[in-house]
Amino acid sequence: MGFIRDEVRRLTKSTGTSDPLKIAAQKNILVLYEALGNNIWGYFTYANRIPIIHISNKLPELLARFTIAHELGHYVLHPKINTPFLRRNTLLSVDRIERQANQFAIRLLTHESTPRIGQTYFEFLTSFGIPEELHDLF
Ligand SMILES: [Zn+2]
Repeated sequence: MGFIRDEVRRLTKSTGTSDPLKIAAQKNILVLYEALGNNIWGYFTYANRIPIIHISNKLPELLARFTIAHELGHYVLHPKINTPFLRRNTLLSVDRIERQANQFAIRLLTHESTPRIGQTYFEFLTSFGIPEELHDLF
């Protein structure tokens, strides 16, 4: 987990933001909202060497942000690997790269913030769009 934290720090330092959409824009990563069916949240590809994050246009805004953060994790951590679709029913995948991308997304979205007094971890993590299934990774 340490190296993922380091990669998030490096990325937020070099871009000056922890907002996944702003980071994508700065890195010239295209974010496309598409009809991906009911189950797929997003995936990452290159087309003519342009990195593209494909996001389901049916996702609520916070979940779309989580998905963009997850796919940014693949962009940073797994540049040479063909990564799978992110789907709700594979969120808890034990696949190493999926776990790493989820950890990256959690670190990025919660970057340098902590729960307010009286706020539970559930409320804190939910406020960033982090799916409940992944709260144990925090
Ligand atoms: Zn993934």
